Amino acid sequence: MKVFGIVGWKNSGKTGLIERLIAEISARGFTVSTVKHAHHSFDVDRPGKDSHRHRIAGAKEVLLASRSRWALMHESGEQSEPPLAELLSKIAPVDLVLIEGYKRDAHAKIEAYRVETGTGLIAAQDTSVVAVAGNGGAVDLVVPVFDLNDTTSISEFILRHVGLLETTQPPSDAPPLQNDCFALPQGVNWMPVDEALDALRRRIQPVVGRKTILASGALGRVLASDVVAKRANPPAANSAVDGYGFAHGVTTDGRQSLPLLKGRAAPGAPFADTVPVGQAVRILTGALLPTGVDTVVLQEDVKIVGETVQFDGLIKPKANARNAGEDIHAGQMALNSGQVLHPGDIALLSAVGCDQVSVFTRLRVGVLSTGDELVEPGRQAPAEKTYDANRPMLLSLVEKWGYDPVDLGHATDSRAALQDKLDYGAENADVILTSGGASVGDEDHVSALLKDAGALSSWRIAIKPGRPLAMGVWNGVPIFGLPGNPVAAFVCTLIFGRPAMSVLAGGGWLKPQGFTLPAAFEKDKKAGRREYLRARVTPDGRAEVFASEGSGRVSGLSWADGLVELEDAERRIQPGDPVRYIPYSSFGI
Ligand code: AMP
Ligand code: MG
Repeated sequence: MKVFGIVGWKNSGKTGLIERLIAEISARGFTVSTVKHAHHSFDVDRPGKDSHRHRIAGAKEVLLASRSRWALMHESGEQSEPPLAELLSKIAPVDLVLIEGYKRDAHAKIEAYRVETGTGLIAAQDTSVVAVAGNGGAVDLVVPVFDLNDTTSISEFILRHVGLLETTQPPSDAPPLQNDCFALPQGVNWMPVDEALDALRRRIQPVVGRKTILASGALGRVLASDVVAKRANPPAANSAVDGYGFAHGVTTDGRQSLPLLKGRAAPGAPFADTVPVGQAVRILTGALLPTGVDTVVLQEDVKIVGETVQFDGLIKPKANARNAGEDIHAGQMALNSGQVLHPGDIALLSAVGCDQVSVFTRLRVGVLSTGDELVEPGRQAPAEKTYDANRPMLLSLVEKWGYDPVDLGHATDSRAALQDKLDYGAENADVILTSGGASVGDEDHVSALLKDAGALSSWRIAIKPGRPLAMGVWNGVPIFGLPGNPVAAFVCTLIFGRPAMSVLAGGGWLKPQGFTLPAAFEKDKKAGRREYLRARVTPDGRAEVFASEGSGRVSGLSWADGLVELEDAERRIQPGDPVRYIPYSSFGI
């Protein structure tokens, strides 16, 4: 059972707050009970009432009961007040117990605060107060500060804090993809690339589970829940430079001379005493500002004369001081679910005290080549045989994108062989990429098999290089039936496979970042389809393209370091004309 407290001085608004929280948290589907601390007598205990008369007459316990509720009153008598833990054990199991009062107990609490009451904040002394709900003007604190009436944010904060609110999306609970998931209305026309991308985006959802791992080992993983800062960064005000700290209030313009205290404030070794007004203390970069210090003068700007530190006045208040939480406050959103963690994120996780993160399990991507003509490279092969280039290419793309490659090998052009491989693939992978056999020819068994299972949709996309993409679902697992030609398979995987797999893996839809460069080539491009040319950047910053557009020319994939994307419309390109160049790195490879 999770517990969370609400504390506050008299008239701070804590009962109103707890009332709103009970309603809001219950409305979100959680069960809530409360514990309320009272000083002496309480509301069911009024003189003259029957229960009161029973009690006064000496009953040890009075059980008040009606059809709708019951309350047990127990006389503690001479015994001391029962501890909170003992009281909590009497409450029936619920998701969350909100505790009003009991401010000395160690559970996490939020403090209700009204400026008008003129009292100090409990949060200033008590580290079990992890947030403040106030009506403004109050505070310069390390803990997050909410508006007293912002019940939604306060509820979310509490639910996150106790671990009841994990993520915004429950992907692994999502139903498996339906057989007809990729079905499209049968059109006679070829679909533009942008339309196909939109259609694809609407049809897929995350298919992976979640697990908690160490943040230090989470590079490249997809976050499965939002991460809230456990601690502020910096946790307390400290110095940004090596210098001398003092209270700004006493300084004036002109020459300053402040007596220098013995000792120093160093990072990790704070100055233990208060710095009296009008005096200064030696302070190093990263050291906590001692009590009494709000401003630091740079050591290069001072002169030490005897026991005094001297410098020219008109120093800005709070100069060279870093505020507590100026980077991020405790309770503030640090990273969002779906983020693919890069090294900067790993640093942020550590800085805010998050040593563990919930991530999606790695997407397992099965890769299968099809065709009677294929053989493994390394074997002597007669001229009618083709070395399988697609499988190692696709497996390495998958690896580069941080997924788990699952090598499904090679299937001959026979239904039985293919069916076996797909059955195995659906058991051992979350998505399957096949290449070859995706058209409607005699030996196009991928499309034929999926079609018979009622699970194929042939997407006629206006893209070059590319043939129809066979989109299917096999035993609940999505299949991308890529063209056999290596260049087409490569381009279709970058353009369609990459964003789709990112969503399947729990991340966001991806759009590659392109750059406009002057063309180093000329070309007459026909209307009605988008073209991708293998390209690279010349030393003088122009985009040149591979000499042949043949879709079997694998050497062009290796020669290139990106693609030039030519829009759907007709276009005559002259050298120097602007073209869109997308480097391989924009595709994450
Ligand atoms: P398909 O789509 O099966 O008709 O194949 C189209 C062309 O791509 C044919 O010339 C195939 O030999 C070739 N091809 C298919 N799969 C591969 C592969 N894995 N590696 C190299 N070439 C392939
Ligand atoms: Mg084939």
